[in-house]
Amino acid sequence: MCSEMCAAKLQRADQISESFREPFIFSGYRSCHSSVSSCILSAFSWNNETFNFWTHFITFLYFSWIFTQYLWHELRFDVDPFTYPLQVFIASICLCMLVSSTAHLFNCISERIHHICFFFDYSAISIYGLATCLMYNVYIFPQSLMNSAYHELYFPISVVISLLCTFLACAARLVKWKMLRISAFSTQYLFCSFPLLYRCVFCEDHDCDHPGAIQFHVYQFILCTVTVLVYGSRFPEVVAPGKFDIVGHSHQFFHIFSSLANYCQLRGNILDMQHRRDYLLSELPMPTLFNTAGVVVGVLMLNLIIIGIFSSFIWENMDSRKAKQKTGILTILWQSGNNNILKEE
Ligand SMILES: [Zn+2]
Repeated sequence: MCSEMCAAKLQRADQISESFREPFIFSGYRSCHSSVSSCILSAFSWNNETFNFWTHFITFLYFSWIFTQYLWHELRFDVDPFTYPLQVFIASICLCMLVSSTAHLFNCISERIHHICFFFDYSAISIYGLATCLMYNVYIFPQSLMNSAYHELYFPISVVISLLCTFLACAARLVKWKMLRISAFSTQYLFCSFPLLYRCVFCEDHDCDHPGAIQFHVYQFILCTVTVLVYGSRFPEVVAPGKFDIVGHSHQFFHIFSSLANYCQLRGNILDMQHRRDYLLSELPMPTLFNTAGVVVGVLMLNLIIIGIFSSFIWENMDSRKAKQKTGILTILWQSGNNNILKEE
């Protein structure tokens, strides 16, 4: 009964405000003024956000489970500081998946909430990127780059890139320039991945001693490339507009491929952490809570400030737009009132 009720409320692209429309998606939209309860109910009925929500919410549940139930005991998370970068990485994936699924569920409450939901989404992605750099900084660096000037600067630069990514992704939403957002996140990904790519390509010294880890890293690179191509090209809806409105549009594949890439990334890093442990600890100091979770939480706080600035801009902008619309309506009413008086005279 709920699905019938909710399906009846679905709207076409021409019935909703422009900022809610997705290119090549013609139907299946929820109302732009949904209540919180109808948003929650919409997760259990067919609309064009149903799969976007579930693909990341199930991934969130999965990673939360392996973090707290499986790896916690298996890898001695409670007593081994060497696992801190890995723990921060898994926590960042959980955060990213939870924020993304929440954004997809509640973005139809109002136009303001729509934008703010995705500001949080972009921030969570840039935090995930930072946590990836943190983990790579400790577990995956090739021997020839270990403790080089590049290695020394790698993590500090990744902090700056993460903050820039959040800023540019939010700004890209305001100016409706999707390529700016794609470029910002691609730059972060390429910067983070360079040492791993270098190691996988050149396999110097003992860098490829554990082929299982290299295999997962290569899978991760392939899946991430597919993810970016799907996201950027909007395939398959670009070749058959309106045919993939509910199931099968590019954003759903983007979620699925990125989740699989996260899984391969995790497996590859766990293998490196275990098999390169003695070598890494002979070259690097033991990680601390402060230089792992502490830094990421600090950047998260700065990200919240960036979100706050963009959200207040959106709030004020829409207030002034509404005021202008009201003034316009009053002017029309006033002019039509004057015309009537003149006619009566
Ligand atoms: Zn998404």
